[in-house]
Amino acid sequence: MNFKEDKIARIIRANKRLSRIESIFRSIKEGIILTDANGDILYANAAAKNILGISEDAQIFTLSKILPQIDAIELRSVCGGTASQREFEIAYPERRFIKVCMTPVDGEKEEAAIIISDLTNERISTRDKIESEKIASVLKLASGVAHELGNPINSISIHLQLALKTIAKMEESASLSRLKESVEICSQEVARLDGIIRHFLKALRPARPDFAEINPLAPLAETLKFLQNELQDLNIKLEINTENSLPSILGDTNLLKQLYFNLIKNAMEAMDLGGVIKIATSFDDNFVKIAITDSGCGIDQDEITRIFEPYFTTKTDGHGLGMMIAAEIVKSHGGSIGIDSRKNEGTTIRLSFPRKDKRIREIMAE
Ligand code: ADP
Ligand code: MG
Repeated sequence: MNFKEDKIARIIRANKRLSRIESIFRSIKEGIILTDANGDILYANAAAKNILGISEDAQIFTLSKILPQIDAIELRSVCGGTASQREFEIAYPERRFIKVCMTPVDGEKEEAAIIISDLTNERISTRDKIESEKIASVLKLASGVAHELGNPINSISIHLQLALKTIAKMEESASLSRLKESVEICSQEVARLDGIIRHFLKALRPARPDFAEINPLAPLAETLKFLQNELQDLNIKLEINTENSLPSILGDTNLLKQLYFNLIKNAMEAMDLGGVIKIATSFDDNFVKIAITDSGCGIDQDEITRIFEPYFTTKTDGHGLGMMIAAEIVKSHGGSIGIDSRKNEGTTIRLSFPRKDKRIREIMAE
């Protein structure tokens, strides 16, 4: 018997052996593969093919082609009687986490059974859970700190007002008017601090957003107005290229202002010597999309995946919460947020919000 005939004979023999229980293998969600010690495949059920992205009627011949992660030595040791189990990630046909258990087959010295389970859903939900627990604890901490800052700010603000009143009663002189100017600037800055903390606390509060039908650009326009002087000082130009009539969304204006504030602030901080922030919009049947592009320093490829993690920052004075809060706000609106970036060229943040008509359907279905 030559090699090929020998293999076909073994496949037929294995299938004959399996024929009585094959209906069971066909109906379970785990993939089952039977192979010999060389990695020649004798049998594979539909679930195995499905998990590994092979069409159901395709013939598969060697294990190394479909599961290169399992090496020949390992396979031989399984055929020799050692059971083994491994978990890994496969990228094709889609990103999946799989668990592979390999066991020797009773009475067949030269064969191994490979059982493949798809752990993707389990893994993703655990990861999401860990992530949201992490986020919840950070939010609690951050809101505690922000709350604590309220009292001293309040006290500074009262004393600055008192100082201004005292100054008003004093005799006018050049140095007194300089002092008055300084105290006024301090008052304005304290008021700004107070505003930031209020915003911050509002955005951190896990309460359900207060939705109203709005143009998603309206809170952006307000945020840009608020930052207008700072943008000018930094020599940053705005290029706004938006549709005349954008479909409305269901949005919480205050939350969206916080979202835009975080994004525009990051764009500003990414530009040392001035530059451009471009705002562009588009929409389709389901979504309204807003892209915010800056000509800043960009983000390293290996850092881009960490941007939304709490505490991830590349700035000496950064807190690493801005993007996490941004993502939370977008999520609470049923939308999505994405980043494209090139080091030294700039970054685009892409936001997409469900159109109002669509979102109402989703909320009604909840
Ligand atoms: P922080 O601004 O306090 O560092 P963020 O969560 O807002 O925290 O941002 C996290 C990190 O993401 C930043 O430190 C920066 O490295 C990167 N980043 C975010 N937006 C941009 C941007 N527009 N350009 C370049 N880097 C950015
Ligand atoms: Mg930031």
